[in-house]
Amino acid sequence: MKAVFMLEHGNVDVLQYGNVPEPEIDEDEIKIRVKACGINRLDIFTRAGKRGVKVNFDGPHILGGDVAGDVVEIGKSVENFKIGQRVVVNPRLVCSKCKDCLTGNDESCMRYRMLGTSINGGYAEYTKTHKNNVFEIPDSLSYEGAAALPTVYVPCWNMFKRRAQLKSSETVLIASASSGVGSAAIQFAKFAVGATVIATTSNEFKAQRAKDVGADFVINYNEETIANKVMEVTEGRGADVIFDHVGTDFWNQAIPVLAPRGRYGICGVTSGYKADLQMGTLFMRNQSIFGIHMGKRNDLSEIIRLVGDGVIKPVIHNTFDLESVQLAHDEMDKNEFFGKLIINVP
Ligand SMILES: [Zn+2]
Repeated sequence: MKAVFMLEHGNVDVLQYGNVPEPEIDEDEIKIRVKACGINRLDIFTRAGKRGVKVNFDGPHILGGDVAGDVVEIGKSVENFKIGQRVVVNPRLVCSKCKDCLTGNDESCMRYRMLGTSINGGYAEYTKTHKNNVFEIPDSLSYEGAAALPTVYVPCWNMFKRRAQLKSSETVLIASASSGVGSAAIQFAKFAVGATVIATTSNEFKAQRAKDVGADFVINYNEETIANKVMEVTEGRGADVIFDHVGTDFWNQAIPVLAPRGRYGICGVTSGYKADLQMGTLFMRNQSIFGIHMGKRNDLSEIIRLVGDGVIKPVIHNTFDLESVQLAHDEMDKNEFFGKLIINVP
């Protein structure tokens, strides 16, 4: 099959387009003809071998976790799926055996593997994964739209619905609106919850796009101070929930404007992972700080339902052919996009 693979870590040049053997499935797995694959920041880190993401190169490694496509083969013990079904994959594969998995808290499984990172993924004509990670998609949802969902919307469900329990009467502050997860968080908080959304970004183009996809207020942090604007918009109260996928740079500006009983959620640290905390303020204001990594496996079915009902619409910035994956990685490195970058595999 055609695939984009790598034999070592490095810059975009290590991504090679060529032929590799098709994956073979076990009895509890499903083989998928990939139609679209979302690109995530994790792909860039995995390609570069940074942020603790090292691949065990025992053959060509194929990146890509957010796969949408057609079922082409099913293992002996797989039920409820049929050949030709349109599906999307949750790339976080849990062990199903540890205490967390057995008590319904699979988002905390520490023996998980990621499609495209620890095992071969979807920059290819075919991939395979465990049956429990495959979800049917409605006819109204395109392959591209489906591939834009898992890695960015599952954390939104986990953070806003399960952990922060964001309410429609509350205000949420969202870091870096233009990234895949930032634009997803705006959509989710605004349309799935009905909250007031303040988003931050770096220029006027991105600010306008943030408003287009649902932000009530946008802060251009190159021209305004995040804290001042949040206090102005919330009439001195601060943000009830803060969605941080950026880390140190955002933390320093956002934590001072967390409201009383505010919940500060962290799901990424791209700008740095160390922070100073005023512990006194935390307890005096009854605040909470928490982290999430993706979500429960089945959270993706809730996301598919919301998209199928038209509540939220995936934000796609650009699409690329499989053989042009290097261009897609370059575009993500430049940070001049708004929403998701998607690979098409016709
Ligand atoms: Zn587990």
